[in-house]
Amino acid sequence: MRPLEGKKIVVASHNEGKLREFADLMGPFGLEAKSAKEFGLPEPDETGTTFEENAYIKAFAAASATGLPALSDDSGLVIDALGGAPGVYTANWAETPDGKRDFGMAMQRAEVAMQEVGAVEPAQRKGRFVAVICLAWPDGEAEYFRGEAEGTLVWPPRGDSGFGYDPVFLPDGQTRTFGEMTAEEKHGWKPGQATALSHRARAFRKFAKAKLGSA
Ligand code: IMP
Repeated sequence: MRPLEGKKIVVASHNEGKLREFADLMGPFGLEAKSAKEFGLPEPDETGTTFEENAYIKAFAAASATGLPALSDDSGLVIDALGGAPGVYTANWAETPDGKRDFGMAMQRAEVAMQEVGAVEPAQRKGRFVAVICLAWPDGEAEYFRGEAEGTLVWPPRGDSGFGYDPVFLPDGQTRTFGEMTAEEKHGWKPGQATALSHRARAFRKFAKAKLGSA
């Protein structure tokens, strides 16, 4: 595996929620992280059909534009009763006709779809958040780190912390949705700790172990 030389890295995202979470997760490692947004990079089209493909598209676009290693996150919500939807299209489900994003509407859309297939009991409403972190270098080499968090979709939404679909996701073993947790509680991880809670923290823990010398 290729070492991460130096401390400079681009976080290949324009998503404020993800950027906040990566800033928390990376903070203790002293990385000099700058986002694709701060570099003024355009957002590439996510034309892949897997989390890995889209993560690579974003990370490689940022690495080749800046000459620095870049880390991206492609993530989404996979709902069993919907055959895995919205999956890689999770962000698209929030798109409004005027090109903005409305996650209240997206959560409602998922709820209506679950009701249409009769998924009303908690046991019929299982799903998971998936996050694939891709670390890409300007020459195109890349490595992947995947994290998943299993849970149940609840309705109505609970809490206003976090971002995206957090208020409707109750992680297994918890009594509060991600939307009712502080960022620290949602990560459920600190450097050196063997377990994490969120999909993103689980993926980042693997990245930190492989690339940042974390225990
Ligand atoms: P993408 O990775 O840019 O395709 O977008 C993933 C989408 O999944 C985001 O826009 C969010 O709506 C959703 N998502 C990913 N991670 C989370 C999370 O931690 N909480 C809530 N929603 C998330």
